[in-house]
Amino acid sequence: MNLGISDEAILQRSIALAQLERAEVSFQKIVLERARGLTVQGRLANGDVFTRILVDPEETTYRKAFIICHELGHIALHTGYGNLLELDWAARERLEREANWFATRLMYKIRLRLLLQSVLSIISPGRR
Ligand SMILES: [Zn+2]
Repeated sequence: MNLGISDEAILQRSIALAQLERAEVSFQKIVLERARGLTVQGRLANGDVFTRILVDPEETTYRKAFIICHELGHIALHTGYGNLLELDWAARERLEREANWFATRLMYKIRLRLLLQSVLSIISPGRR
């Protein structure tokens, strides 16, 4: 049974979660060799902190969602580590594994939530 849980729905939910974290998602080509996604953090002229998640637009819809969740993992777990690209290989690998672990679980939760909403809309139409 297809309950309408599309990759696009998961992507839209991951973008909404990023917005909750005040992170802007930007689909743009990334020139760095190894990176499929990046978190860019900085400070605006007025002192506000900004976070932008860059996602390669050539990735599949599913991969885009995973990348956003991975970057949300870095935001949740690794804020304060500075520029991860400047860490040594072993330290960076550990942080990348942690972000992948976070992303895998977040994707699972998003899928579960969408599934529950889909089931609820079938058994109780008109309610959210
Ligand atoms: Zn990463």
